[in-house]
Amino acid sequence: MGGNSNIKLIDDNGIRIDGRKVDELRPIKIEAGVLKNADGSAYVEIGKNKVLAAVYGPRECHPRHMQNPAKAIVQVKYNMISFSVDDRKRPGPDRRSVEISKIISEAMEYVVFTENYPRTSIDVFIEVLQANAGTRCAGLTAASVALADAGIPMKDLVPAIAVGKVNDQVVLDLNKEEDNYGQADVPMAMIPRTGEVVLLQMDGHLTYDEFKYAISLGKKACAEVYEIQKDALRRRYVVESEAEQEQPVSVPDQEA
Ligand code: UDP
Repeated sequence: MGGNSNIKLIDDNGIRIDGRKVDELRPIKIEAGVLKNADGSAYVEIGKNKVLAAVYGPRECHPRHMQNPAKAIVQVKYNMISFSVDDRKRPGPDRRSVEISKIISEAMEYVVFTENYPRTSIDVFIEVLQANAGTRCAGLTAASVALADAGIPMKDLVPAIAVGKVNDQVVLDLNKEEDNYGQADVPMAMIPRTGEVVLLQMDGHLTYDEFKYAISLGKKACAEVYEIQKDALRRRYVVESEAEQEQPVSVPDQEA
């Protein structure tokens, strides 16, 4: 977030450097159940971001001193792979990934019915394969689809998106250049059914009116992401089970 408003990121017709309008999302693709060996998984593309989430559990929580006798804990590990960014990312956790893991874990703990699974841990692994700003939102969006794919009861799915300010204008879903040289970046996530916001961060500055408008823009975009999340689960469960039912019944060989 450089806050350098001299760099022109929006032209005179209100078009951004990637061809979008200020209130337009990047193309989004979501697929559920992409990994065979995880209990649940999802793959998300938002523009050039490519993110994979895998869920294991609920399983007995180790080490035992971390167990909660009243509910499950949701442990999230967000990781950026070395080749996911332009300059090679040093492998292993850093302050940023620890922070992102914590905020995603708190958002997930709020929606999962953790009281159903005392003493257990639900482990969520988020791997960023390619990054172009908004990876925490893509990761959270993927994580909630992966939790649903694992059959873990939740209040709702959790769509997430970033809003912000670039060249003095409020914009939706910042790309890398806008994130680097813009004036504000506000990642947010919500529970669409209740309208509750489960993640809200802010880097940079917005006036009160800009903030209110940005949040309303983000809420509308979350509703769009939510439909794509539900579609991914429908494709995985409704369409696949219908296809299975339509399989021709194999007739045993008469001559055998
Ligand atoms: N980034 C990078 N190297 C890093 C961390 C971030 O190149 O070590 C890039 C990456 O494209 C990321 C963007 O900077 O998506 C914005 O990072 P930020 O911390 O704002 O998180 P994000 O927007 O991805 O949630």
